[in-house]
Amino acid sequence: MDPIYKKGLVWLRRDLRAHDHTALHHALTRCQQVWVVFVFDQNILNSLPKHDARVQFIVNSLEDLDRQLRHLGQAKAAQPGSGLIVLQGKPCQEIPCLAQTLGVEAVFTSIDHEPYAIERDAKVLGELAHRGIVMHGYQDQTLAGANDIRSQTDRPYTTYSPYKKGWFAQLSVERIQSRDVEPYAAQLANVPEVLQAHARVPTTQELGFEPVTLPHPSLHQGRTGALVMLEDFRMRMDHYKEARDFPGIKGPSYLSVHLRFGTLSVRELARAAWDAHQHGQAGATSWLSELAWRDFFMQVMHHHPRVVTEEFRPLPDPKPLAHAAQAQTRFEAWKAGQTGIPFVDAGMRQLAQTGYMHNRLRMVTAMYLCKQMAVNWRWGEAWFAEKLLDFDLALNNGNWQWVTGTGSEANPPFRVFNPVLQSQRFDPEGKFIRRYVPEVAGLANKVIHAPWLASPMERVSAGIELGKTYPTPLV
Ligand code: FAD
Repeated sequence: MDPIYKKGLVWLRRDLRAHDHTALHHALTRCQQVWVVFVFDQNILNSLPKHDARVQFIVNSLEDLDRQLRHLGQAKAAQPGSGLIVLQGKPCQEIPCLAQTLGVEAVFTSIDHEPYAIERDAKVLGELAHRGIVMHGYQDQTLAGANDIRSQTDRPYTTYSPYKKGWFAQLSVERIQSRDVEPYAAQLANVPEVLQAHARVPTTQELGFEPVTLPHPSLHQGRTGALVMLEDFRMRMDHYKEARDFPGIKGPSYLSVHLRFGTLSVRELARAAWDAHQHGQAGATSWLSELAWRDFFMQVMHHHPRVVTEEFRPLPDPKPLAHAAQAQTRFEAWKAGQTGIPFVDAGMRQLAQTGYMHNRLRMVTAMYLCKQMAVNWRWGEAWFAEKLLDFDLALNNGNWQWVTGTGSEANPPFRVFNPVLQSQRFDPEGKFIRRYVPEVAGLANKVIHAPWLASPMERVSAGIELGKTYPTPLV
């Protein structure tokens, strides 16, 4: 029988919602009074550029979450000030100190598999233990826990296909069931007077960052926005399988940033697809298998944290890299969307302008950088980490290692996407290219994928002068 506590604290990190939430559910059902805290981790803030859209996304999502908590508390006639507590500092000091001030007996969190998070949580657990406070961690971030799906020899899988088979075999109504919060919200407690200064979300400026207007045109924020986006995708899920690879049309869900910050629960996403999947609808099954990829890469990172700094399986015969100055020139052109390959440039500009990049483009641009441009893939990985709103260490690393052929689950090293063929196949009418590379918009569909192959007449009539209005391909 689980112990019952008088007072508990829920520490949120990348699970910014008060709905279908395992740690919050357990805290509310096991404690008479519950507070909820988010800490802006100074260690992380210090590592970010001062103009970072993700900080803005978190601030906006916390404001939404604060409203949800107050609303939940009021609806259940809890005390009137049952909002979020927001702190800034080092979690290993802030959490134990807050827990002591509130007099809680237990802290509840969601398990995070990133190496930094594991180390941070171990420190916090130790500090709490000194004060006689326990910490409970719950599996909530993924549908399958890191040890749920194992081979016949009881090892974690390092390849996706058998993992996926096991993942689908275990997917069940029970696994995707909501961890309810709302029925127990009466236990949400008033933020005490001494903490009133922290009962509000700081602005980005107060955190030392510049305010950012979030660029992604259709990105709705906070949980409220996430639900709008989920509803929009639900209507399109049926066509996901055919549409997901074509960046010029609205194919994927665009929910990755909400999964990253937990404004949606991964279980509610699986529930959205469950009935259709059960009825054999290919769109729903295909989308669920992407959620399986997410779980797969997260469990790879959990079992093999060395992938952060090492190649999972180094190539036996790696191709030589471009020499330093050449690599730097190529990398700068790649980042700026000025490689001279319209499809690649469109992807890189989508990233710079919106903080999102379509999956097909992530594969094509990443492969172009490390295979055709012969630039160290770690540079590209770091650029994506800086720019992607949905940046996730396990997913970014797992996919880059897949692209280079060094990953646990890897694309064969000899397989190289031809970016022009990819462009012709996945953006046949050049819709996506025209959106992001207006310099070549005047070219006919047949030549827009490779302006250097257009006739001089075609280029003149499209207003293109190669090397002046648009680059000749660097590679
Ligand atoms: P949908 O197609 O709607 O998929 C739904 C969800 O499934 C996604 O939100 C994501 O959580 C998961 N998913 C989809 N594709 C993958 C995949 N290949 N691997 C793991 N999970 C997947 N995704 C991130 O969330 N963060 C990253 O930092 C990231 N870096 C990437 C780097 C490279 C080089 C590549 C090739 C892919 C990367 N991806 C990353 C995976 C994928 O591109 C994105 O998850 C997807 O484009 C997000 O858009 P969506 O939510 O519309 O996807």
